[in-house]
Amino acid sequence: MASITIRDVKKSYAKMQVVHGVNLDIGSGEFVVILGPSGCGKSTLLRMIAGLEDISGGTIAIDGIVVNRLEPRERGCAMVFQNYALYPHMSVAQNIGYSLKVAGVAAAERTRRVQAVARTLELEQLLDRKPMALSGGQRQRVAMGRAMIREPKVFLFDEPLSNLDAKLRVQMRSEIRKLHRRLNATSVFVTHDQVEAMTLADRLVVMNGGRVEQVGTPGEIYSRPASRFVATFVGAPAMNMLEGTVELDGLALLGGSRRLAIPRVGMPVGTQVAVGVRPEAVRLVAPGTAGALDATVDLVEELGAGRVIHVDLDGVPFSVMTSETVNAEPGTAVGLRFPSDELHFFSSQTGARLDVFRTLAPVPAL
Ligand code: ADP
Ligand code: MG
Repeated sequence: MASITIRDVKKSYAKMQVVHGVNLDIGSGEFVVILGPSGCGKSTLLRMIAGLEDISGGTIAIDGIVVNRLEPRERGCAMVFQNYALYPHMSVAQNIGYSLKVAGVAAAERTRRVQAVARTLELEQLLDRKPMALSGGQRQRVAMGRAMIREPKVFLFDEPLSNLDAKLRVQMRSEIRKLHRRLNATSVFVTHDQVEAMTLADRLVVMNGGRVEQVGTPGEIYSRPASRFVATFVGAPAMNMLEGTVELDGLALLGGSRRLAIPRVGMPVGTQVAVGVRPEAVRLVAPGTAGALDATVDLVEELGAGRVIHVDLDGVPFSVMTSETVNAEPGTAVGLRFPSDELHFFSSQTGARLDVFRTLAPVPAL
């Protein structure tokens, strides 16, 4: 087990900077997920921890020891990749045991350890097969086995489930979680899939454009997103956003005609804000209801357990998630009510969360 300390870590390729000073503390035994869109620098950061990529600036320490100049094999990290990177001509047993062979471990000891890992991953029946003769999930487990056998201090996962079909992905997700509970090894898992991130993480690190936007538990990130980016990236369907301007006694939505009552916020009159509300927080009411905003139904998506109602709010697409049965044929007028404690405010200029509720007295309901 090992802690990882990342201080002001930067990465440039030629003249292009792709990681802009990342700070992160990962505790011993913690399962941390790095979540962000494609190209935001997740793999680069992971590869810098592993030692597969030079660090352009800052320091990375594992267990308090700066590893910037250490070779990958000296860092005690094992990495599991998206494409598994198995040797096609070797059997499962040879693939799993390969690093021990390279390290000069005797054959009998190697066999013993391969057997032990195969037992943990339920691969015992497959040890003589070649990767070609395995399913995607089995190959993934072999890749895990190859990482485990080295008894690393740190597991690094780079989108290891992205090549699996949806059902298998869910299954492997819980297997990885169970394995972590058993081994309790520090793990850093990279993904662009927010559901995968939410379900796996002890703590989540949301990245965007080479920067960390927010670090927190999945619950904290969902309920108090630190930025507009995090708010819309985490959660499906995405959080709705309405642009507005703070007025003396409420908020005028852009366009001017629609007004939404908000708590008497600590934001100066004239502040341009984005008001966020999650689809599951919106209440459907009869059109014309006082304090609600009227909208027109565009499309209803049945999910089985509920439905997503896509509406048009003065040209802004907006979604509502509900488990109720509603008459929501396309073209129908509906009223939308936003509970005031479910509203999130972000600066239109910077995208940063505007923390309006901490200093405020309770607001009467609309
Ligand atoms: P992610 O894993 O989040 O999708 P990456 O870390 O792979 O993102 O890439 C971050 C950025 O760095 C991207 O813009 C990518 O094009 C660039 N990049 C990655 N590897 C290299 C490389 N070897 N040379 C030049 N640019 C690279
Ligand atoms: Mg990547």
